[in-house]
Amino acid sequence: MSQRQMGNQPMLVLSEESSRTSGKDAQSMNITAAQAVAEAVRTTLGPKGMDKMLVDDAGGVVVTNDGVTILDEMDIEHPAANMIVEVAQTQEDEVGDGTTTAVVIAGELLSKAEDLLDQDIHATILAQGYRQAAEKAKEILEEQAIEVTPEDTEQLEKVAATAMTGKGAESSKDVLSELVVRAVQSVADDGVVDTDNIQVETVVGGSTDESELVEGVIIDKERVHDNMPYAVEDADVALLDTAIEVPETELDTEVNVTDPDQLQQFLDQEEAQLKEMVENLTDAGADVVIAQKGIDDMAQHYLAQEGILAVRRAKKSDIKALSRSTGARVVSNIDDVTEDDLGFAGSVAQKDVGGDERIFVEDVEDARAVTLILRGGTEHVVDEVERAIDDSLGVVAATLEDGKVLPGGGAPETELALGLRDHADSVGGREQLAIEAFADAIDVVPRTLAENAGLDPIDSLVDLRSKHDGGDTAAGLDAYTGDVVDMNDDGVVEPLRVKTQAVESATEAAVMILRIDDVIAAGDLKGGGSDDDEDDAPGGPGGAPGGMGGGMGGMGGGMGGMM
Ligand code: ADP
Ligand code: MG
Repeated sequence: MSQRQMGNQPMLVLSEESSRTSGKDAQSMNITAAQAVAEAVRTTLGPKGMDKMLVDDAGGVVVTNDGVTILDEMDIEHPAANMIVEVAQTQEDEVGDGTTTAVVIAGELLSKAEDLLDQDIHATILAQGYRQAAEKAKEILEEQAIEVTPEDTEQLEKVAATAMTGKGAESSKDVLSELVVRAVQSVADDGVVDTDNIQVETVVGGSTDESELVEGVIIDKERVHDNMPYAVEDADVALLDTAIEVPETELDTEVNVTDPDQLQQFLDQEEAQLKEMVENLTDAGADVVIAQKGIDDMAQHYLAQEGILAVRRAKKSDIKALSRSTGARVVSNIDDVTEDDLGFAGSVAQKDVGGDERIFVEDVEDARAVTLILRGGTEHVVDEVERAIDDSLGVVAATLEDGKVLPGGGAPETELALGLRDHADSVGGREQLAIEAFADAIDVVPRTLAENAGLDPIDSLVDLRSKHDGGDTAAGLDAYTGDVVDMNDDGVVEPLRVKTQAVESATEAAVMILRIDDVIAAGDLKGGGSDDDEDDAPGGPGGAPGGMGGGMGGMGGGMGGMM
């Protein structure tokens, strides 16, 4: 139908396949989708949180307690739900821990907002109030923070251990937190920590307690020739990003040999070239040669004769890490190699790691690159330990960089809720209601910690509030005993950044979702989510177990496999 024919009817500007939801419907549809995401991870929060088993299309299984991993595996399609997933991703990028907390807060901010929207408080007022509350929240958190120096190993180990509680790594947390702190302290450079310099290698077999930290680089390769030494002490190390091979002759070139002598001559010439390359390396003083490309068989033989330990086809990233830690300059042309290009390592040795031979380069001048070798009984165990270690490395790095920690166990959230309610009184008007709603929303963290620990959440919240009212700002919930105790004494501490970032990204996402009152979806997008949505995506309304409630049309993919 031509649009002009429509007379005084509203002009149709959207294609027929596209759908549009606006006003309150749009808001509640988005809120419901976002809440469902938060609900999906809520039961994993805290040391007594449960794990999830995620099964992908191909039958691959991941068992985890890690918020961001769960959400990544879930393959969520709803756009508002995805904004919540992004909260977890931002948290992961910025701190590496607190992903569940951030998501749960975002979900609760939206629940509380929905109540106010129902009371006809405009979303703009809510957004303003939430933003203001988040600013105030940061102030309150900063006030509560305690200083930590980069040398305060004891406190840093507590931070490391807190991030591991409730995860696969927990049973070995003493050993692991010591390793994590040592790793972060080794790579710290002028108060800045680049966790990329900490390689994590996982080994299936053995107990997690046998994990170790190698102050140096481990290469997943073996020496190229059996006659080469297994270990070299006080090694001068040459790094090559080139091959030790005679350059191939042009593809089309034919070498015409008319008698056997000529052939021999030709081969001799190649050998001589290889011999010369090896001589260049020995003349420069190399005891160990690590090449990013190949090493010719004949060259391997010569290198072995010289007692050199050589490795070929090392990863580029390994060459870089080796260059940083041994001080070697990466050589591209073997003819030019000199003593100055070589780096130094006190020990280069081939060792067995869980049945796999690897080259350990240790006792380096500047161990700015270290490797954590994590062990565990099975692949699932090691993978989950690795995720816990990632979180732990992130929080120790953040603590070392910022020098500030907070007590955990719901202490900062209780302090926030109280402080924000006080602040709301001084604001007045409708925004006061929004700030109060924000304060109520923050309580979701201690409430959930209590619930997941099998405690009565009301009793716990009352106890927490009265202790905080009495000035005990570090009072938190010990999830193991169920008592409200001083979290600093209990050793449950987290970096300030975990909490400030969680509040910030949760608020941003909640505000963004609240401000949407019109959803226009092109025909081929699964943007729906209303109850009459006929789209039968797996995990649709009421279909998926694991706390994913109704109104979830449009969330597809792997959700159906969640248990
Ligand atoms: P997140 O993904 O948000 O880090 P976690 O499952 O790691 O989620 O839980 C973090 C929460 O658990 C934080 O509030 C932290 O203070 C709390 N927590 C950690 N250890 C303890 C403990 N021993 N007792 C009580 N709460 C704890
Ligand atoms: Mg955590």
